[in-house]
Amino acid sequence: MSNSPSASVIELARSNVRELTPYQSARRLGGNGDVWLNANEYPLAPEFQLTAQTFNRYPECQPKAVIERYAAYAGVATDQVLVSRGADESIELLIRAFCEPGKDAVLYCPPTYGMYGVSAETFGIERRTVGTKENWQLDLQAIADNLANVKLVYVCSPNNPTGNLIDAADLRALLEMTQGKAIVAIDEAYIDFCPQASVVAWLQDFPHLAILRTLSKAFALAGLRCGFTLANPPLIELLLKVIAPYPLSTPVADIAAQALSDEGITVMRTRVKEIAETRAWLQEALQQCPCVEQVFGSDSNYLMARFTASSIVFKTLWDQGIILRDQNKQSGLAGCLRITIGTRQECQRVIDVLQVLPGAGESSSADDANPTRVKLSPSKEPM
Ligand code: PMP
Repeated sequence: MSNSPSASVIELARSNVRELTPYQSARRLGGNGDVWLNANEYPLAPEFQLTAQTFNRYPECQPKAVIERYAAYAGVATDQVLVSRGADESIELLIRAFCEPGKDAVLYCPPTYGMYGVSAETFGIERRTVGTKENWQLDLQAIADNLANVKLVYVCSPNNPTGNLIDAADLRALLEMTQGKAIVAIDEAYIDFCPQASVVAWLQDFPHLAILRTLSKAFALAGLRCGFTLANPPLIELLLKVIAPYPLSTPVADIAAQALSDEGITVMRTRVKEIAETRAWLQEALQQCPCVEQVFGSDSNYLMARFTASSIVFKTLWDQGIILRDQNKQSGLAGCLRITIGTRQECQRVIDVLQVLPGAGESSSADDANPTRVKLSPSKEPM
């Protein structure tokens, strides 16, 4: 106990907030880069002009044009869509609507996106983790064994940071196992890169399914802060009870509606193709680098790779203004770095640096003669 005024403010805070380690977003981590490959953003800024000028008025809570266009894009009815301040807000709204502090738990399966845990902790909700299997698929038996008091299960597919899709049969088994017990939130933040894998058609079968989406990735609008929850109307109505009165500002709604026009969606699809091409190129090039042990296949706008000396690799790139995302602290991801697919030129800069870094057992030479180093082709990866 201290008598200083700021110490007493800290003592007034909720104990779970005092103990909270906030999410280490790419922006908070900083860095002095000119090649930003650490936040799964699109590397180039799309251009928009504002059309709405009514800034004296409060915006609509759920802007009609945005809801209608996203519903059409996702293939659902308008009453199955909620728009919010990014998918991060959807993660939080689900906790607010479904979880009681001191009583309920949320369950998720590391290695995965960090905000499920941070949001639960912020609200004083127990975080129950069930690690994935070695191939980063769900351990359904362990999930079944740990469902007591769980009100909400988050599954990310494609998974961040590993890049793999979760098996559809496992997702269905999870939904069947949790029926009547818990909400299952399937985080499809990266689904626009592999739309065929969406579970959106399952909404008709599962009232406890919520799907999270965003304009931050394939729509190249991370700075806009606009995301969606897709679910059946009773679930959406519960979320509408706990959402802020004006979750989207007028400029956000204006730009989101433009991004979801037919033209906007065509541009997004072109971008997705280009990212897939650059990703294939980068994957191939990484596999040729001596310091790379393994590159994992990805259905998203990033690649994860395991390096022989990842902290040296991370620092060497960092010192040259190329910022990646370190995954060393995630369970099972020792030696792994995540690389967002930037422009082809940005990816080339990564490769230019990595090519000359030594591999395991090599001291200074970039010559790749080490026979013990394992490089697997994508088809042999534990995905
Ligand atoms: N889910 C996952 C898996 C993500 O990677 C992200 C972005 N980092 C989000 C949700 C949050 O997206 P948004 O920018 O829409 O809040």
